[in-house]
Amino acid sequence: MREVTEGELRECFVNATRRELEQLPLPGLHETIWAEREYLGWRDPRSSRLGYVVHWRGDALIGVVVRGAPGGLRPGIAAMCSLCHSTQPATQVRMFSARLAGLDGDTGSSIGTYICDALDCSHIIRTGPPHLVTADRVAARSEALLGRITRFTGRVERATRGS
Ligand SMILES: [Zn+2]
Repeated sequence: MREVTEGELRECFVNATRRELEQLPLPGLHETIWAEREYLGWRDPRSSRLGYVVHWRGDALIGVVVRGAPGGLRPGIAAMCSLCHSTQPATQVRMFSARLAGLDGDTGSSIGTYICDALDCSHIIRTGPPHLVTADRVAARSEALLGRITRFTGRVERATRGS
């Protein structure tokens, strides 16, 4: 993905509350390897629940605040992230929900999806045995990941606008 600035990040969230925006924890942009990112995802270090996903859709930066479900999936089973489609131990995948309302709204509704617990799909699809992370495979998974996250944030954005 193209590099983003702190200013762009502060303005891109479609479903954040005022309080969430005021308290937005910014990720370490200087350490980010942008060429190996489909989206920027981070968890709030002060909150066990809040997380943020941001990506470019053309020239528009779009961000969605997500809340991780308390408790995790049952340890010992496998689970699949709905964005990168990686199958992982259930403790590394979590149900996240996105509030479907803008700054001052509260519709009480949300949509949920399973995402890698650390919101680090870009890292996950580039990690593994060498025969599974060839350039071709990573490129195909990268494209699919970007398509899925674009659909997810698009759903949140449309529902939020309609609220
Ligand atoms: Zn994932």
